[in-house]
Amino acid sequence: MNRPTTDHATLADKFNEDEPRVNWHDETLWWVRAKRDRQAWSIPEWELLRETASQIKLNVLGNLHDYLIQFEQQALQNGAIVHWAADAAEHNRIVTNILQKHGVKRMVKSKSMLTEECHLNPHLMANGIEVIDTDLGERIVQLAEEPPSHIVLPCIHKKKEEIGELFHEHLGTPAGNADPQFLTAAARQHLRKEFLQSKAAITGVNFAVAETGEMVVCTNEGNADMGAHLADVHIACMGIEKIIPQRKHLGVFLRLLARSATGQPITTYSSHFRKPAPGQELHIVLVDNGRSRQLGREDFRNSLKCIRCGACMNTCPVYRRSGGHSYHTAVAGPIGAILAPNLNMKDYADLPFASTLCGSCSNVCPVKIDIHQQLYKWRQVLVQEGHTTGMKSAGMKIMSAVLSQPGNYKKAGKMGRWVMRAFPGMVNNRMNPWYKQREMPAPPAQSFSEWYAQNKKDKK
Ligand code: SF4
Repeated sequence: MNRPTTDHATLADKFNEDEPRVNWHDETLWWVRAKRDRQAWSIPEWELLRETASQIKLNVLGNLHDYLIQFEQQALQNGAIVHWAADAAEHNRIVTNILQKHGVKRMVKSKSMLTEECHLNPHLMANGIEVIDTDLGERIVQLAEEPPSHIVLPCIHKKKEEIGELFHEHLGTPAGNADPQFLTAAARQHLRKEFLQSKAAITGVNFAVAETGEMVVCTNEGNADMGAHLADVHIACMGIEKIIPQRKHLGVFLRLLARSATGQPITTYSSHFRKPAPGQELHIVLVDNGRSRQLGREDFRNSLKCIRCGACMNTCPVYRRSGGHSYHTAVAGPIGAILAPNLNMKDYADLPFASTLCGSCSNVCPVKIDIHQQLYKWRQVLVQEGHTTGMKSAGMKIMSAVLSQPGNYKKAGKMGRWVMRAFPGMVNNRMNPWYKQREMPAPPAQSFSEWYAQNKKDKK
């Protein structure tokens, strides 16, 4: 197999070069996880909500075609213009055509992981259209020319001093000022000008209601509302799995989303967009981009229940200490490691292995996705499809031969203990990544079974 040019372990190594940053990243995300726990435990019916959400989504996945058609009919009746995109390229073409038709050269966009997945920003830039991301975290990573590292907290890897420097360079704030309140106010002034001048606005979609054809966008900054209400053209981009059957189901999902994401009872703004304002155009772009394929993979279908809360990332010990960029895909963390191989097995074959399979992700997931089991399943699929390194495959074959025969296991153990005592450098060296950050344990004098046999004999 050809390895991708980047892989999780190499990129995580890079992130780990700055140990204080790793510790602080780890602790901050754990703090968010603890906030989530407090909110979840404050609701006696939390587990019932999770189960209900999971069942609603299961129903959606089983009847996706019908709900999508219902949503389209309602949206058309509401006066929206509906587009269908089979993949990222078609999505980008549709959005570009709409903007070019209206002569848009500069526009605002609120947070949308779908447009990150489709690499919309570089596509628009290549077509002469400048995009201003208006979510504060997204704007920060955009100014830093980096992708988001977390689906809810896009610049969680950045320290306030770095943000102060970025704002000094791009927004002209005083050098050395890293006060979060001051920087937020500066960003607000800067973004307000963009909102007022922009003829077009792109938003993501958190939930699309089939019954009414409306869309709900959740933000804490109100930036989706500012963009969409002030612009002549609103383009809402959504993955086809964002559908929920009825408006009443929002009562389940909105209670779960913000609590799971940031430990808030609800997002500051849960904005409903149903029809275009007089004189405005409302476009909805429904995007597949591999979702139908994932729907057809029985073992991985449930991953489409995801409501992108980020809770699985905040709790994941690997994500917290390797950082979002180490996943080299738009959606990082445990859920990203399930979604990405569906798009390209070869390029993302490393991701399902970036997990301890501890199951904490599945425990916190508000829609009860069996995340760690799907990661384990992906490993099996990737090995069967030949997407692991020759070294790893050979190693697994040797391990299988050793572990399946007690005689082989005993001999290998004896030999291993002798090698570790006589030639420790053979194992504990820079070629062996396992020992890079670990102390070599002293080999025991005898194996457990030798000790047990000896112990039994001595007692007689
Ligand atoms: S998989 Fe579950 S926990 Fe992770 S982002 Fe999606 S909904 Fe949230």
